[in-house]
Amino acid sequence: MYIKTIDFSKFSSIKVGVPIEVLMIERDDEIPKDRMIIGHANNLLVSSSPEPLMMLSKDFSFMELEDEVLTVGCATPTGKLLSFAKKNNLKGFEFISKLPGSIGGMLAMNAGVKSYEIFNILDAIKIDGVWVEKKDIEHGYRFAKLDGVATEVRFKITKGFSTELLDELVNLRSNQPKTASAGSAFKNPEGDYAGRLIEEVGLKGVSKGAMQWSEVHANFLVNHGGGTFEEAKYLIDLAKKKIFEKFNVMLKEEVKLF
Ligand SMILES: Cc1cc2nc3c(=O)[nH]c(=O)nc-3n(C[C@H](O)[C@H](O)[C@H](O)COP(=O)(O)OP(=O)(O)OC[C@H]3O[C@@H](n4cnc5c(N)ncnc54)[C@H](O)[C@@H]3O)c2cc1C
Repeated sequence: MYIKTIDFSKFSSIKVGVPIEVLMIERDDEIPKDRMIIGHANNLLVSSSPEPLMMLSKDFSFMELEDEVLTVGCATPTGKLLSFAKKNNLKGFEFISKLPGSIGGMLAMNAGVKSYEIFNILDAIKIDGVWVEKKDIEHGYRFAKLDGVATEVRFKITKGFSTELLDELVNLRSNQPKTASAGSAFKNPEGDYAGRLIEEVGLKGVSKGAMQWSEVHANFLVNHGGGTFEEAKYLIDLAKKKIFEKFNVMLKEEVKLF
């Protein structure tokens, strides 16, 4: 293991944060219990004083296909898995196309689009060095209880990558803001949309410093350049408060605040 200083204002997709020392985990290291694991920071808002952080090194970026079983290391970028699935004609991976990040982040978030989620297609996850079957991992909408660090994931594969489905899902995403963000800020409450509620309380387009509730898609918190954690948190708390007051609904963050 070794320490790497990561500037979250450059590394994170929302471009918020400061340089922080992160412990990089290598192949044979014992995984520390006293640090928060991060992936590629596409769903993170990192403050200037987070809990100690760790990240999987490139040792965990790999894909192996053998006897209808695909094993993928959790530091693998999602784009690489998509390209691999396309090249090898593997079914079920099409939805990954617009989900930036690492495979580890996808697993922890049960990331997905519409009804397509990573847990639909996986078989087992290696957590803290032990293979755990999917049926033994509690999971749901944008949530999975991994209780540890995922280092590898196993898929039983079937043939049939669908370029039609890929195109359909890419089109679906064409309305997303291009400005720096961490994707959806809130999970959708049951039977409703967080974006709709943010609009209803008049926050669509509202800014604090360089951070803004996007004018394109209200549930995207965007950074126009130089936005801070505090500005982002202010807008998140404001939305939660206003929506609770008007609709008696307490939104839950999808983005993880560290
Ligand atoms: C423009 C944009 C669009 C997006 N659209 C979508 C979308 O449509 N659907 C969707 O689901 N998401 C979406 N996201 C969010 C993001 O793509 C996913 O959440 C992604 O899976 C995050 O991966 P990451 O590696 O960046 O994880 P990070 O953001 O670094 O971490 C996310 C969480 O995963 C945990 N984690 C990371 N690695 C591991 C590991 N190895 N073991 C255990 N826990 C781990 C972290 O502790 C943290 O809680 C979008 C993001 C952006 C920027």
